[in-house]
This record gives sequence, C-alpha cells and structure tokens, in this order.
Amino acid sequence: MAAAIESARPIGSFYLGFGYLSPMAAERKPPRLFGTNGVRGVVGSKEMDCQFAIRLGLAIGTYMRGTVMIGTDARTSNDMLKSACASGLMASGCRVLDCGVVPTPTLQYAVKTYKDKAAGGVVITASHNPPEFNGIKCIHADGTEMSREQEEAVEAIYHSGDFARADWTRIGRVSPFATAIERYIGGIMSKVDVMAIRRANLRVALDCGNGAGALVTPKLLDRLGVRYVTLNADPNGAFPGHNSEPTPENTEDLTRLVRSGGFDMGVVHDGDADRSIFVDENGRYLYGDRSLAIVAKYVCSLRPGRIVVTTVGSSMAVEDAVKTKGGRVIYTMVGSPVVARVMMREGGAFGGEENGGLIFPEFQYCRDGAFAVAKMLEIISIQGKLSKVNDAIPQYSQFKTKVGCPEGKKVQVMNGIRRAASADRVDTTDGVKVYYDDGWVLVRPSGTEPIVRIFTESRTLERAKDLADDSKKLVEKLVKG
Ligand code: MG
Repeated sequence: MAAAIESARPIGSFYLGFGYLSPMAAERKPPRLFGTNGVRGVVGSKEMDCQFAIRLGLAIGTYMRGTVMIGTDARTSNDMLKSACASGLMASGCRVLDCGVVPTPTLQYAVKTYKDKAAGGVVITASHNPPEFNGIKCIHADGTEMSREQEEAVEAIYHSGDFARADWTRIGRVSPFATAIERYIGGIMSKVDVMAIRRANLRVALDCGNGAGALVTPKLLDRLGVRYVTLNADPNGAFPGHNSEPTPENTEDLTRLVRSGGFDMGVVHDGDADRSIFVDENGRYLYGDRSLAIVAKYVCSLRPGRIVVTTVGSSMAVEDAVKTKGGRVIYTMVGSPVVARVMMREGGAFGGEENGGLIFPEFQYCRDGAFAVAKMLEIISIQGKLSKVNDAIPQYSQFKTKVGCPEGKKVQVMNGIRRAASADRVDTTDGVKVYYDDGWVLVRPSGTEPIVRIFTESRTLERAKDLADDSKKLVEKLVKG
C-alpha cells in the first residue's frame, strides 16, 4: 500500500514548506489509475485488456456525458482498446467521434475546436513506451490533458462502479470524424510565419519513428514548402525502425542521414508525436532542453517581459536564454498537464519539458510535436543555421544519480535535505532544488521506486559530479539516520 500512496502523487506535490500530508490521509484515497501521462500497461495484462478498457470507458463516459472524440497512435493493440473503450462510452450514453490514427495533439485540437462542443476526448496511446505497452489518456473539453483533480473524479467513478447506463433510446453511436488532421495542419499554418519558411527554401530530414506523426508532419512540410526526406514514415506498431523514445541511440539513422549533407535540420517524433527532438545541420543531436531554450529565447525576443514555464529539472540554459531577452521563468512540478495549467494561470508565452515536449499557447495548451517543427523552421528561416542559434545559448552539463531509500523514510530524508540547504535560493516546487553560484542540485523522491533521485547541473561535468557526490553522501546519511 505504501508504494501505491507514493505513486498516487509525486511527493513534491504535497511538500509545503516543512509540512507533509500525513500518510493516513493519503491512505484513504482509492488506488490511482492515471500516471503522469494517462493510464499505461502491458497489453493483455489485467491493467490493459479489453475488460479494463470497457470499464474505464464507462467511467469516462459517466464523467464526460456528451460527445467524446477518440483517436489512437499506431500501436497493434489500438483497435482492440479503442473499440472496448468506445463501447463503454456508448453504453454510458456518449456519442463517439472516431478520429482514427492521429497524433495526440491532433486529437486535442479536434476536441478544442469541435463546433458542436465536445465533452472531452480519449487517446489510446503509450507515447514512447515499447510496443507491448498501450495506454488510455483523457482530454478535457478545452483540449488540455485532464488535471489530476479531473482524473481523480474519473478514478472515483471507476472504483465505485456507479456508472451511467443509457437505456436503448439513449445509447451512444460511433461515427467517423475524418477531418482532424486537415484541421490541425490548417491551424498550425495559421499560427506560424509561413512566408518566411517558404522563402528560406529549407530541406529537412524527418524520422517519424513509425508513429502517428507519419500521418501529419510530411503533409505539414508539403504545405510549408519545405523539401524533406523521411525515415520510418509508415505507422507500424511493431516499431521496426527503432523504439519510439527519441533518445540519441534511437536517432542514429537520422543523424547519419543529416550528416550525409544538404539538410538544414533533422527532427524525430516520439510514438504519438507530441514531442520533437531536433538535430542540427551538422547532425548534432540537441537534447530537449536545447530546443526548449532556443524557442524560449525566440519567443521572449518578440516582446519584453514574457513568461516561460518549465519543470524544475530543466537546464539553466533555458533561464539564461530567457533572461537575455528580458523574460522570466516559472518552474513547476514534472508533468506537462501541470506546465500547461501554470501557463494558463500565469499567462505564460511559451513552456515545455526538457524531453522535447513544447507547448505553444497561441495554438493550444498541450505538447505539440508538429507545431514545434513548424516553429523551429520559422526560427531558422529568420535567424539562420540551427547550429549557430544553438551555440548562442550557454552549454551546461547535467549529472544524475540515485540513492536507495525505503518508502517510510522519504519524508524524513526530504525534510532533512530542506533543513541542510543553506543557499540563498531554494525551490521546493517539486522535491528540493538548491541553487549555487555555478549550478544546482535537485533531490526528488521517486514516485514509484524505493529510491531518491539526485539531479545536478553546472558549467562542467566535473563540477556537476562533485555536486552530486556531496548530495549523495548527505542523502545516504539521512537514510541511515
Ligand atoms: Mg508522447
């Protein structure tokens, strides 16, 4: 049960100053279904089979009550889970609009812009996970990912079994909704500098990773007048090209292609194309916080005083880039729904995560892989080569380590870390982040494992490692004590 409590909410979320929610209060909550990105599980297991999908569909339908748009990424189990979930939705009286295979942000845009007002959306996707996984993710009526509170409401209905059951006169029907991709591409075109991109006569290497992005990004590039060569551009749930997490290892074919010459940049999507990772014209892989910093700097250069929102683990490069243009960074807990909601609340002009998930509020409040491609094309059309734009932002080195820590000791360890922090700037948004003159240390308890994670960043890798070593010793002492 202790593990379930920890996974029920990242510990940082109930860390308030020195006080924590008591474990007894947390224990009364029903087990959590939704993780940071929807419900995930191995297909065929009890956590992700057709019976689960029907029951969750009933719970979602009971909560949403209206027209629900549904879509999937390219996984082999999608039709099975979509049909089961849609069955639950219809049984509860919802009308279902089937958008087919689409990137997650395409479905979100369809929900947000549907003229007759959708009650919400459901995406069948496991994003970047291996092919045996799949997942179910809920979209709020405004197109954003559901907040934790909304997910808790669906979970409560799921666990209670108190579902709306429509009689034969009110049972839902499913109809195809074939225009989601066209609307989405049109929406992106209306929010970027198309003329600048067309004039620049760019050439791009695009790796769709056999995911849902294959159905959108090539079409978008056509419309933007960008020439391109594709890799893995057939949606295929076996992921024959490479696993769908856009890591440097999974991007080797792309970087090799870019190095063969004649490209202005390379880009790779994850499985549901809500993320984009970029490669500069020399074939250099840019980690997600580089693109975050590049776009943040560009957005802040357009108007002074703009706000950029990102998670506490993001590189100082983002803050440096934003400050040079008179902007300000607000840090949040991990999770793109949290970033999006803080952006809405604080009027953020741009935001995102360090994993390549970028959020453009002028379009929609969610991570958007294809919009990120269009925006990066706009930036290099106006500012020149991607390598040059990237080099203009400081480089930092990050280091990660972890220490074993029993669940029951996590609260005590985190309080100890907070008390030991003597620096001027300490951030307890998510775990404890301590700033030094030349870097920072972030200590966070894992939400799912009996470990405490330590992240550090500094100008050099040596200094980042030293910071991590010092913190590791302190955490080890606190675990023993
Ligand atoms: Mg994804």
